[in-house]
Amino acid sequence: MSVDFKKFSGSGMTSDSSRLKLISELKKQGIKNNKVLNAMSIVPRHIFIDEAIAGKAYDNTALPIGKSQTISQPMIVATMTEILLEKNPKRVLEIGTGSGYQAAILSLLVNKVYTIERIEALHKKANHVFREVGLKNIYTKFSDGNKGWPQKAPFDAIIVTAGAIDIPKSLMDQLSTTGGILLSPVKKNDKQYLKSIEKNDEIISEKIHGTVNFVPLLEGTD
Ligand code: SAH
Repeated sequence: MSVDFKKFSGSGMTSDSSRLKLISELKKQGIKNNKVLNAMSIVPRHIFIDEAIAGKAYDNTALPIGKSQTISQPMIVATMTEILLEKNPKRVLEIGTGSGYQAAILSLLVNKVYTIERIEALHKKANHVFREVGLKNIYTKFSDGNKGWPQKAPFDAIIVTAGAIDIPKSLMDQLSTTGGILLSPVKKNDKQYLKSIEKNDEIISEKIHGTVNFVPLLEGTD
């Protein structure tokens, strides 16, 4: 896809060179997929957060985006994207649009990204950034993501970017039966783990990828 990110080139802490430093840190920490590294080196994370904290955009940390929510840590975005790409998905559903950053990264790597957010103000803000940047393969919805997006199912991949206690059954139902992958933080013994579930016909296989720290997956809309 030809999106021109050049016009968002920042300076100082938001410059391309600050972003490239972050990319080499992600490599050092174990991210190997060049497509993921490339997407993260292209997409300017600083346009997804408030100007007041834009100087921290290329720190490898989660940052506040208002309404008590956060933009995920770049290493987590890279890890989750890398796991999904192993399955070469074409159509991806994201639960928890938040700032829109994760969706923007995915939009450079897959055909279509569907993303749902339960806080209207965040949904609108993300829509605005997607339009400004010209990312046309991201479809957004203001809704409770626990229900998924049945009209657009099945999805090759579903990525939940908020901490669930249990993975909602509707999401499992909307996952492709031919190698579909669902990735979600899940809670167990007061800890959050990143879990992937693969679906091949009736066979479900699960894997844990380490601990994470996401804001909770809530019910309903705000
Ligand atoms: N992917 C985001 C991370 C956002 S943090 C990014 O790249 O910035 C998690 C987001 O999930 C928050 O915006 C929160 O409002 C949203 N969320 C929590 N529960 C939800 C639900 N049931 N449906 C949709 N979004 C939800």
